[in-house]
Amino acid sequence: MSTVTCEVAVIGAGIIGTATAHYLSARGVDVVVIDRSYMGSGSTGRCIGGLRHQFSTPPSIRLMKESIRLFSEMEEEFGHSVEFSQGGYLLLAHSDEMAATFRANIRVQRAEGINVSLLDPKEAHDLVPQLNTEGLVAGAWCPDDGQAFPFAVLKGYRKRTENAGGRFILHNPVVNFRRNANFELFLGDGSIVEAPRVLLAAGPWTRELAKPLGIDLPLAPERHEAMITERMPRFLKPMLVDYRPDGCYFQQMLTGQVIGCYTPVPAVPGIREDVSFEFLPQVAWRMSRLVPALRNAAILRHWAGCYTMTPDGNPVLDRTPLDGLFVASGMCGHGFMFGPAMGHHMADFILDGEWGMDFSEFALDRDFSPGAETLK
Ligand SMILES: Cc1cc2nc3c(=O)[nH]c(=O)nc-3n(C[C@H](O)[C@H](O)[C@H](O)COP(=O)(O)OP(=O)(O)OC[C@H]3O[C@@H](n4cnc5c(N)ncnc54)[C@H](O)[C@@H]3O)c2cc1C
Repeated sequence: MSTVTCEVAVIGAGIIGTATAHYLSARGVDVVVIDRSYMGSGSTGRCIGGLRHQFSTPPSIRLMKESIRLFSEMEEEFGHSVEFSQGGYLLLAHSDEMAATFRANIRVQRAEGINVSLLDPKEAHDLVPQLNTEGLVAGAWCPDDGQAFPFAVLKGYRKRTENAGGRFILHNPVVNFRRNANFELFLGDGSIVEAPRVLLAAGPWTRELAKPLGIDLPLAPERHEAMITERMPRFLKPMLVDYRPDGCYFQQMLTGQVIGCYTPVPAVPGIREDVSFEFLPQVAWRMSRLVPALRNAAILRHWAGCYTMTPDGNPVLDRTPLDGLFVASGMCGHGFMFGPAMGHHMADFILDGEWGMDFSEFALDRDFSPGAETLK
């Protein structure tokens, strides 16, 4: 039975695990990333790549300012394109209540220096001439929001981590833990990874992993389905987010495909990667109601993955009651965009024991009352 030793073991090669590994290895730490499958096989490879500054609290907004700056530097840092672009996010309110939420958020966002404005329906139509504005009350527009391609980002983090001496063990799940002087992680092939510090970044599987250690994390995975169309000439710059209960959100990738999702009501709980029959007709109807020109687009592929939800819609990044064990999960619908900045701060926290900015809204012992993040 082989044993690999390292200073920090990261469980999960999604955006959070790989970003953290990159920043740990950049500080000279011997890091091993373990994944039960391929890189991005969890939520990260199933997401639609949107990046936005438009959150409702200063810590999340500050984190996203840092993340979007880091995304913008990746091409130079990695030596390959991550298909980063800033076509903006246009959030759409079809009720006075949602418009009031946008107004309140915009005040907070502007105070944080974000270039965001409230548009009336005509201004929204001027911005996206294909938009059906029937019933629209207002739009929240930030031209600095954007997109990137998850697999290209993961590839960059892996390359940088390995160049700095880090190692990846893929297609090999952690099946058991033991805590002696160090943590011993027992893998599916019978080998062991031994480390004094471990980060649980296993996305939807994090709660299950932590339970045998006596730690019950407030994480609740839900299924979210997504689809992608054939390539089309570029006509749509922003991500459109329709906040109606039967709304949807989608954007056109730099390569021409339209990629999108909707949030099912009621939620579909559990770790679910199977797809439903109702999604395709629903998403086609919802998207073409908003942009009728999409009526003739062909959908090529449809898949499902998880949002790992928390009661208040904010992630959990913290140490756990078990000395040396850290957690970074509960990313809800925005872990890809948070990933670069969270990975950076998580690495520093693991090494220095303190956050470089206010992370109290992500603490494990916070009050999880619903409602902290209004734009989940
Ligand atoms: C349809 C959809 C659309 C989305 N759109 C967006 C978007 O536009 N923008 C955005 O920011 N976010 C979006 N998200 C959310 C985003 O994908 C997640 O928040 C983010 O990817 C979470 O990353 P993670 O690293 O925490 O988890 P994951 O990517 O799930 O990574 C966890 C990894 O842990 C591994 N693992 C689990 N158990 C074990 C084990 N026992 N041993 C070893 N490895 C293990 C898994 O194989 C997996 O690779 C979307 C999600 C979905 C499903």
